[in-house]
Amino acid sequence: MTNWHDYLKANSTPPTWPYPVRFENEVEVETDILVIGGGIAGCWAAISAARHGLKVTLVEKGDTVRSGAGGPGCDHWCCVPANPLSRVNPDDWAIHMADRPYPNGIGIQIQCREDYDTLLEMEQMGGKIRDTNDEYKGAEGRDDKTKFMISPRYGTIHSYMPDPNMGTQGFNPPEKRNNVVIRVWGSTFKPALKKECKKLGVQIFDRVMGTSLLTEGGVQGGRVIGATGLNNRTGEFMIFKSKATIVSTAGGGSVWLMNSELCGMSTMMNRASSSDGLIMGWKAGAELVDMEATGPIGIATGLKHKWYTGAGDASYENVPLVDANGKRVPLPIQGWEDAGAMILTPEGDRKIREAIMKGEYELPFYGDWPSMSDVERRATWNLMLGEESTTKVIIDTFNQAGFDGSKDLQQSYKFIEGQTMPQWRQPGMGGLLVDWNLKSSLDGLYVAGNTMFSSEDHSYCAATGRYAGRKAVAYAKEIGHGKLSREQIEREKARVYAPIKRSGGIEWKELHAGLARTMQYYASEFKTEKLFKMGLWAIEKMEKEAVPQLYALDPHKLMRSLEDLQLIEHAKIILNASIARKASSVPLGFDRIDYPEVDPPEWNKFSTIKLENEKIKINYKPQNFWGDMKDQYEKHNPDYEGVYNR
Ligand SMILES: Cc1cc2nc3c(=O)[nH]c(=O)nc-3n(C[C@H](O)[C@H](O)[C@H](O)COP(=O)(O)OP(=O)(O)OC[C@H]3O[C@@H](n4cnc5c(N)ncnc54)[C@H](O)[C@@H]3O)c2cc1C
Repeated sequence: MTNWHDYLKANSTPPTWPYPVRFENEVEVETDILVIGGGIAGCWAAISAARHGLKVTLVEKGDTVRSGAGGPGCDHWCCVPANPLSRVNPDDWAIHMADRPYPNGIGIQIQCREDYDTLLEMEQMGGKIRDTNDEYKGAEGRDDKTKFMISPRYGTIHSYMPDPNMGTQGFNPPEKRNNVVIRVWGSTFKPALKKECKKLGVQIFDRVMGTSLLTEGGVQGGRVIGATGLNNRTGEFMIFKSKATIVSTAGGGSVWLMNSELCGMSTMMNRASSSDGLIMGWKAGAELVDMEATGPIGIATGLKHKWYTGAGDASYENVPLVDANGKRVPLPIQGWEDAGAMILTPEGDRKIREAIMKGEYELPFYGDWPSMSDVERRATWNLMLGEESTTKVIIDTFNQAGFDGSKDLQQSYKFIEGQTMPQWRQPGMGGLLVDWNLKSSLDGLYVAGNTMFSSEDHSYCAATGRYAGRKAVAYAKEIGHGKLSREQIEREKARVYAPIKRSGGIEWKELHAGLARTMQYYASEFKTEKLFKMGLWAIEKMEKEAVPQLYALDPHKLMRSLEDLQLIEHAKIILNASIARKASSVPLGFDRIDYPEVDPPEWNKFSTIKLENEKIKINYKPQNFWGDMKDQYEKHNPDYEGVYNR
């Protein structure tokens, strides 16, 4: 059976929903620590909390074993300055990493101090972090003593900037490497995390979508004392009562994107990331930061090449490129000093385009795998691509088709796939505000991973999850359960089940498409107050006219419908935050036609947005509002025993 058409030809009746449906039936769960979102940050949070001896419940929309952006894998553990081969001091490195506008100094400091401990703990749980089978002996960056595969591309200047004099394979010379990034077997991580959760007695609810946070007295801004959820198989309503709650549902990948035939999302995020944690926090009254920051999606829109553009890009970084005539192209790194290591800089891109247009190179380009040494070829193909999340699909497909890198070239889609549209966007660095305990602005609510503002990579999400888990435990040990508000629960139940009360109208895909279009028109390349307000008007109209027609015929479609409603909220926050920032900003990806001055000093500040009695409140925080990173970290973690401070 290949498709729906074949199914209907072979069967006279359509398939029935394979699970018992119990819409509106309530299931109550009491726990000490509730973690919503079982991706990288969530699993680490649950494990860390459980190790501290409290009862932990983990709620995951998919199946924890592979869910989330990091579920299929990860090839770089990106920031481990405390590892024994590192050439930098973790505290100095944290300052260096945070030395840019609008970073998250708190998360970066935690990552720099605790990422190596996190990696070693990953190994104890069964994750593979070293070349224990000596598969890649002789590869650049491999350390024979520790068997760590240090990524050879990173220099001492900046983690993502190659040294201008680096060699022709895109490697920094050894003496110039910072040794901060380690190549890992990330496909082993998620199963190990789920197994550890089970071993520690974490109660896992897979296939449950968290829908709202419950607050003391049912009031906005009150202490968070639990959450509600929807089982996306049975349709049951979940009520969780907790002493502390951690949200780790990542961000929202498809506010600007919808395509019902292709994946319809940014594949830089997981399909299930539909702004849920952000919006649950927002409705409960938590403060969000930098919600106006957005940027075009260079890759992975579902409307362009699915993942990296093939050989020579990102995890294929050290595969030399040749043009259609076999002439070496100075990509990914070679020759042009401003070509970035991960993704080509705009200037590098422009130079290559010009050279193509002048006929200096003929398209398409190809990855010249045969020119690589056997060990480097294997390290890139099997380790970098085999372990790098969705790229595994690509190498599996090539392998099945008989691809042999010692003889075959691999086509690159760079340039021939076309330009990125400015309207294909994603929310930028916006997220929940946190303090040095990774607590949100609400008591009882903690945040980890990509749900917090200005978050970073996989290893950052792991380290902050682990940290949030222990901080939530410290809080929960000092406090009892709150009293749930039945009225708040009833309100949420009515909202959640509204789409199943209808049997016709508008389905989730249509609503999502309408929202994405609205954001493409009114919150994209051309930004003015008038356009933002038109966007808000269009969304409000959608809420008045389309949302009351939203219908869902099964629990899965009900979940998708609820996701749309979260995306709609997210879009409104982006538009309101955009109206509030009356200046343009390069780091925020924010070019206002009506306020063209770029990053004027009076606007050099974080903006925050929250709901107070259902009214929007905008506020500001200075850059570096977290204070001295090293001092603050040490003040908040006097008892933490890690490799660095042992
Ligand atoms: C293709 C790809 C390759 C990558 N490669 C690397 C790499 O090599 N190195 C690196 O450092 N980073 C890499 N990343 C980034 C890294 O995977 C992410 O930074 C990381 O996974 C984010 O962790 P997180 O826990 O915040 O979110 P996720 O891991 O995405 O987890 C979020 C979880 O929340 C769940 N969820 C969402 N909403 C709800 C809800 N309402 N209720 C319950 N559960 C919910 C989701 O199902 C998901 O499991 C890659 C990402 C992608 C997409």
